[in-house]
Amino acid sequence: MDIQEIPVEGYERVVRADDPKSGLHAIIAVNDTTLGPALGGMRMWPYATEQEALTDVLRLSKGMTYKSAIAHTGLGGGKSVIIGDPANKSRELFLAMGDFVESVGGQYITAEDVNIGIADLEIVKERTSYVTGLSRESGSSGNPSPYTAHGVYLGLKYCVQRVFGSDDLTGRKIAILGVGSVGAPLARKLAEDGAEIYAHDLDESRVAAIAKDFPIHSVSEEEVLTMDCDVFAPCALGGVLNDNTIPKLGCKIVAGAANNVLLEVQDGTDLRERGILYAPDYVINAGGIINVAVELLPDGYNEEEALRRIRRIPEALKETFDIAEAEGISTAEAADMRAQQILEEARASKTQA
Ligand code: NAD
Repeated sequence: MDIQEIPVEGYERVVRADDPKSGLHAIIAVNDTTLGPALGGMRMWPYATEQEALTDVLRLSKGMTYKSAIAHTGLGGGKSVIIGDPANKSRELFLAMGDFVESVGGQYITAEDVNIGIADLEIVKERTSYVTGLSRESGSSGNPSPYTAHGVYLGLKYCVQRVFGSDDLTGRKIAILGVGSVGAPLARKLAEDGAEIYAHDLDESRVAAIAKDFPIHSVSEEEVLTMDCDVFAPCALGGVLNDNTIPKLGCKIVAGAANNVLLEVQDGTDLRERGILYAPDYVINAGGIINVAVELLPDGYNEEEALRRIRRIPEALKETFDIAEAEGISTAEAADMRAQQILEEARASKTQA
């Protein structure tokens, strides 16, 4: 396997691997380890070029640094991408990826991400111990989605409290886009609390499955975005909030699980100008990473400890919203500012020590 360093300013380490024997072509980016080893998922995607993959892994790993900083996971930020069609997965490919992760010597710890499942990581684990998020049976933290959903639920309730003065969800209208691994358990929790749920999913059977247990209105994509409601919860893909959608939004709060929900930084300012409270994606959706991080504590995984830490998400949102108000900036900018502050304080105390 040919492993080469790619020097990138602002990143501690970026490495690429090329292994013609297994077909592995991958990049690992370690953005920052000030707060601990860089944890971030492994993604497999048919990027058209290596440059495209590099851009993605750099952006994602920096996002993980900020997310972990704000969530106080005690971890840094990293990410890995395998360039390839997920249809061409093989045991050899993931064994080689395991060797590649191991070669970074623990600076990078991997987990699941887009197109990577537990079965793939089990193979990676044969070659490196720097793997998290495997099954509960194997002593690992298991599926992160219910924990992400729980964190979004607590964060959403805090946003409702902040805007309406009470976190009682009875009769609150909540529009959810995407009821998959995170959106579905979120919808169920909100419905249990008496909220009126409106949902849209490309896969209508997912809305129908929830409707068996709770009254939930199935609506179109246009309606879910534009309807008059208290909260819009984006739980599908990123980029949903942009120049086209923001002027049409009918909600007072945006609080959901989707990553990179703003297409551009300016979109955060546009939401602020429209008087819509936006819970920054990586602050509110940190439940999954918090759960995984607990696995790396000296005593190993403990669900109670994970839930205790997830209960801090409303506090992280409060800090973010307070900064935004004090500085007159968007909540998205405030989250980045808070993450940078946490990193700078940690760097300063390391220098003093
Ligand atoms: P998922 O694939 O299980 O669910 C996504 C759902 O959205 C699916 O039901 C899909 O049919 C639907 N969908 C996709 N595109 C759509 C569209 N254009 N219109 C309507 N519905 C659409 O994914 P997930 O794990 O639930 O993650 C949801 C979002 O939350 C993603 O952005 C993910 O990055 C983010 N996130 C997830 C976790 C986690 O623990 N799973 C953690 C942090 C962030």
